Amino acid sequence: MDIEERCRQVLEEVPRSVTVVAAVKERSAEEVRAALRAGIEHLGGNYVQHLEQLRPSVPEPAQWHMIGPLQKNKVRKALRVVNWIQTVDSLELGEHLSRRVDPEAPVRVLVQVNIGREPQKAGALPDDVPELVQGLANLPGLRVRGLMALPPQPDTPEDSRPYFRRMRRLLDELREEHERTPRLDVLSMGMTADWRVAVDEGATMIRLGTTLFGPR
Ligand SMILES: *Cc1c(COP(=O)(O)O)cnc(C)c1O
Repeated sequence: MDIEERCRQVLEEVPRSVTVVAAVKERSAEEVRAALRAGIEHLGGNYVQHLEQLRPSVPEPAQWHMIGPLQKNKVRKALRVVNWIQTVDSLELGEHLSRRVDPEAPVRVLVQVNIGREPQKAGALPDDVPELVQGLANLPGLRVRGLMALPPQPDTPEDSRPYFRRMRRLLDELREEHERTPRLDVLSMGMTADWRVAVDEGATMIRLGTTLFGPR
């Protein structure tokens, strides 16, 4: 099956209310354009440099997301190539973004949560998330839209369920606290291995690489 067919098949299965972000790491412009032809509208990159190379070769309209760790010294460049940053995990990074973003073109932000409390992994610890969301919501040029997580590597899709469930609960709690933050409505979780479970647990955005593009 080619990329276009794979993408069409996945888009047919995913509920319409769930946004599919194609994870483009190590993919060529041709591969990415095939995904867009199939109806993919969101692209997620792990590295600013890769996105800088890709974007000029992918002229089709799309929303571009940063889904990899963002270093502070790459913030300015990142803001030129993405409209979403899914990996904000500190107020400091939020402040860097806020100072550099064009106020006319606010950047949409998700807070990355280290939901498995894995020492080697990026993301805010669940207990710190409410305060972080509050702090980010006050920064000009940032639109905090929700949460993102990369749970511990699952052996079976079901291994991810408890983490997804905790993420859902965390977002629900935030929504109660932040009734005035109008659009805290995005829960980005689930990859090739476990996206069906993620959708079952309330994901509104899934990030897929292998199942759309084939093995790397
Ligand atoms: C690579 C990647 C994905 C997609 O992974 P697959 O297992 O290939 O679907 C999703 N999210 C992030 C942050 C990634 O780096």
